Amino acid sequence: MTKYIFVTGGVVSSVGKGITAASIGTLLKSRNVSVAPQKLDPYLNVDPGTMSPYQHGEVFVTRDGAETDLDLGNYERFIDINLTCESNVTSGQIYSAVISKERRGDFLGGTIQVVPHVTTEIKERFKKLAEKTKTDVIIIEVGGTVGDIEGQPFLEAIRQMRKDAGRENVLYIHVTYLPYLSTSKELKTKPTQHSVNELRRIGIQPDIIICRSEQPIAEGTRNKISLFCDVEPQAVIPLPNVSTIYEVPLTLEEEGLGKLVVDKLNIQAAEPDLGQWRKLVAHLKTPREKINIALVGKYVDLQDSYFSVREALHHAALYHDRDINIQWISSELLEKEDPEPHLRTAQGIIVPGGFGIRGIEGMIKAARYARENNIPYLGLCLGMQVMVIEFARHVLGTDGANSTEFDAATPNPVIDLLAKQKQITAKGGTMRLGDYPCELRAGCRAAEAYGQTLVQERHRHRYEFNNEFRSQLEKAGLVCGGVSPDGSLVEVCELKDHPWMVSCQFHPEFGSRPGRPHPLFRDYIGVAKTVLREGAQPPLPLSNGS
Ligand code: GLN
Repeated sequence: MTKYIFVTGGVVSSVGKGITAASIGTLLKSRNVSVAPQKLDPYLNVDPGTMSPYQHGEVFVTRDGAETDLDLGNYERFIDINLTCESNVTSGQIYSAVISKERRGDFLGGTIQVVPHVTTEIKERFKKLAEKTKTDVIIIEVGGTVGDIEGQPFLEAIRQMRKDAGRENVLYIHVTYLPYLSTSKELKTKPTQHSVNELRRIGIQPDIIICRSEQPIAEGTRNKISLFCDVEPQAVIPLPNVSTIYEVPLTLEEEGLGKLVVDKLNIQAAEPDLGQWRKLVAHLKTPREKINIALVGKYVDLQDSYFSVREALHHAALYHDRDINIQWISSELLEKEDPEPHLRTAQGIIVPGGFGIRGIEGMIKAARYARENNIPYLGLCLGMQVMVIEFARHVLGTDGANSTEFDAATPNPVIDLLAKQKQITAKGGTMRLGDYPCELRAGCRAAEAYGQTLVQERHRHRYEFNNEFRSQLEKAGLVCGGVSPDGSLVEVCELKDHPWMVSCQFHPEFGSRPGRPHPLFRDYIGVAKTVLREGAQPPLPLSNGS
């Protein structure tokens, strides 16, 4: 019998529900309890693929090609699993499924209503994931904040689950925020009380309350929440800010959350084995020499847009016993200015994924700077396309080389729409998405990094290297280091005469894990750490963590 943990959020958005849900997964997995996570997003988009990163942050891509919420990336990294499209459910998906069923005549004679039709459709998604994964526990995070209009059907569905799955098989965890009032020097519990009241109003009594705060939480505050919100004092779990997100599972474990969850759900669990995780966190908290990495992108004012890239950089740096100082550089700014002062201290340059023309010329400048100054360069998806355009323009001397995404009339379309994309007009879920195989050329840098020549990586793009230019570009020194098995798509580009300039049409950042960095990020940082630049931090004594 599958058990269900529902995680809701109160008081403010961005309270850390995603990291909390992921951390509960870490704690259960460490006890040999199998888990599958699911995120419910109340917006009406079918998926976040059509949203701007400013609305949503990063779009995380699963191996099976779903465009999903960035919390899925945290679940993958914290639980060390690969998820599928079933792990992200949106109101858009639910309503379109219900409406298609109605059109098909499935409910003939009936009036279609939020309760029961929409709530039943939502519950089917919980049960489908349980049936498919056959895990002991499904952890379901409800997006948004309790009280939001659009979240109501999801909350009603999770309320009904108590009856459907049995009270003993369902646990409600509410994550709230305790604001600090500097005038009275105390953490206030009233917003939490109101948020719990809101939950109770719709029939959900939380079993556990996790309290986020900027300050340590005193015993008295904990007792007050226990009294007013009707949970045992030990089920009020403080979660003050920590220095790295990977510390959250350990803080929650120390507060007894792991044991509380397995006890409340009556799960036969092993003793927790968090040894590796503790080692990782101890290492992360040890001061290490910093490597300057310039990330040149269009959304650098909203760093959540590059969540997985940032994490992958940190995983790779830790492997080399280094820390990362990411220099967030606006590609739009680089368009107008000399790159030198912006990139002077960078020991590595990275151009991540993106869409649209804004800032492209700045990214091209960054790629040129990396090539001409022998600075390690990692290009991710758009970052590969930019590298090819730059090489075509300045090494091959091809006039106006560009991608047809940015200049439909370019005389030299070195990047062009994928053949399969030419007939597609609809925008949602129609890119080349998810895992595709790639064959690496033996001896190239990518093959060296992976230690193998056949790899599977996640994609999300419409444009691709144009083979018409392949032989000219190769003759000029561009190495097509990876291609699709039928040879038709160039997936990896490298430079021969450069310390490490490698880019890929896919997104390796999604596959990186704490303690197991992605090979491309690992080798990139491995070279970057040896690069001496102006103002680079002098070496610190090596830390003992490993
Ligand atoms: N805009 C480019 C394309 O569609 C790159 C996409 C990306 O970086 N994810 O091919």
